[in-house]
Amino acid sequence: MNETSTTLIQPLEPMFLKKAASLLPEGGNLNLCLTCGACVAGCPASGLEDMDPRKFLRLALFGQYEELTTTPWVWQCTMCRRCVYACPMHVDIPSLVYLCRQTWSRETRPKGILGSCEQALNTPGNSAMGASSDDFAFVVQDVVEEVRENQPGQENLEAPMDKQGAYYFLNQNSREPVTEPDEMVPLWKILNMVGADWTYSTKGWAAENYCMFLADDEAWEKVVRNKAKAVEDLGCKVWLNTE
Ligand code: SF4
Ligand code: SF4
Repeated sequence: MNETSTTLIQPLEPMFLKKAASLLPEGGNLNLCLTCGACVAGCPASGLEDMDPRKFLRLALFGQYEELTTTPWVWQCTMCRRCVYACPMHVDIPSLVYLCRQTWSRETRPKGILGSCEQALNTPGNSAMGASSDDFAFVVQDVVEEVRENQPGQENLEAPMDKQGAYYFLNQNSREPVTEPDEMVPLWKILNMVGADWTYSTKGWAAENYCMFLADDEAWEKVVRNKAKAVEDLGCKVWLNTE
């Protein structure tokens, strides 16, 4: 018997696939794969770590639990869900990836993602970069004043902060105020131009949520609840998250 066939008859982890199917919407359609490869073509993680979504799913269907739960490829998947949209059978591979991430102990998960989640949990704004609410408010004010002064026609530009009762509550990815503040301006101009009633908040303001990528359900929920509370506290009607 050659090495490949030996690998394929390793003992199965019978409960994993069953459990995965029970957790995924409509069972994730995991057993419906036609091996057509449509998922591979559009996947930005195809070929990384010698893996692609079709191969990953085959490993699951063949019960290769150990490889499934140890391949670092699960951390290369961007959770973009392109594979699901491309798949004629709507096989939910990213949700399977998510479950496999959860089999990694917390300390073995990628440090960058883990650190970003921790930062979000430790700041009132839920900033993955650890930016404080005061810094966020300062940068927004500073940039809006600069634009008003230096860009003709933008003298009335607004970027409201903590505006009670505004219709739209807007989140902002931390990267912009921290590293590329000017990139916030085009959206402000659009909102101003259409007369939108909107606001940023000093609480729950960061748009990103790395706790989701960390596959930490509890932390993910905590971050989302904090942001939802910020929306409610300001009495906003619509929550806009541009992530
Ligand atoms: S969700 Fe993951 S597996 Fe699917 S296309 Fe995106 S990166 Fe690839
Ligand atoms: S696109 Fe769907 S059916 Fe085709 S190989 Fe990928 S998972 Fe299987």
